[in-house]
Amino acid sequence: AATGKGSDAEAPLPGVILDSGLLEREELALPAILHCPRAGDDPPCDAAFCSETCRDAQLTAGHHRLLCVALDAEKRRAWQAFRRYSEARYDTLGLAGLVIAQAVSDVAFCGMDPQDAISRYSRFATMPWPELLAARAADRETWRQLRWVVVHSACKQLRGVFESLPPPLDDLLSEEGFAKLVGMLDLVTKDLERPNPQDHRLRSVLEEMKAPPPLHTELGRLTLAWMTAKRLASEAQEPNEPDSDDEEEPGETQPLGLAQLAQRAARLPLLPGFVGFGLYTTVALTNHSCSPNIEVVPAVYNSDVVGTAQRDIAAGEEITMSYINEDKPRHTRQRSLLKNYGFVCRCARCQAEEGSTTPRE
Ligand SMILES: [Zn+2]
Ligand SMILES: [Zn+2]
Ligand SMILES: [Zn+2]
Repeated sequence: AATGKGSDAEAPLPGVILDSGLLEREELALPAILHCPRAGDDPPCDAAFCSETCRDAQLTAGHHRLLCVALDAEKRRAWQAFRRYSEARYDTLGLAGLVIAQAVSDVAFCGMDPQDAISRYSRFATMPWPELLAARAADRETWRQLRWVVVHSACKQLRGVFESLPPPLDDLLSEEGFAKLVGMLDLVTKDLERPNPQDHRLRSVLEEMKAPPPLHTELGRLTLAWMTAKRLASEAQEPNEPDSDDEEEPGETQPLGLAQLAQRAARLPLLPGFVGFGLYTTVALTNHSCSPNIEVVPAVYNSDVVGTAQRDIAAGEEITMSYINEDKPRHTRQRSLLKNYGFVCRCARCQAEEGSTTPRE
């Protein structure tokens, strides 16, 4: 509630979206969502699926079969409590919980060898999550200890969900094993943030109905509110890492002209994007290069990620992708890779550019 300042900016907008007939437009209709068959159980399951195929696959061989169907009510409650805990502390903990559930499902429902199941998900796990922080954060010792406390608590909760797992799967519920799994997911999961698939349809509908500016404004506010909420949620979880990839180089920014600003605004999304993470073992195995020969991007309409060749690739040549924004100068790339991925890049481009730029202190 606005107090004192009494500005017009705080006044609620008229219900433009509802009055415009926008919501009834056929082009903008979403496919019906399928709920989990246990949506009405106690505790209720809030999972939603995009199609029958998707739901059936999850209920036959996915982690959802274990977490929703195989567990009793008390354990399902424990899982939901763990999920809330990880949402409040660090998303990747929840992802690690799902990975464990999937490994157990692979063994229990798909007859996979336990050794294969565990190595499928943990073969890149070398550094415990709390230790990954050690090299980069300012008050690192405090945060390192805090992360171990979180790992301890998360493990305890998960042991309440899964009880006893057969070896070697039980290693995933040891504090060291779990911390390494979270550390691995932190490094190798692909950020699947992508634009809302309705965005381009909405754009053309608005154009066609010559939508009044207030409608655009209202949609813009919706997106802005979403982005703000997302930023606040992520800030509440962990300390801000200084020097992120997105850091602008000094002197690089130049004042934009009006035409450029308008162009930039026209490219902004009308609707909030979708967020998610995926573990793609092929992508996780792909090494970094600052002069990569493929670009890896999420597909728009499904959970695939697609690697596209950036130039001709010779038979036998190593496939490489870029983990960072490779348009940055050498020292920025090197610093970012060391901070966020823990290695000094010795790719061909970095070697060729060595000494060619003035080093900054
Ligand atoms: Zn369910
Ligand atoms: Zn689906
Ligand atoms: Zn490099």
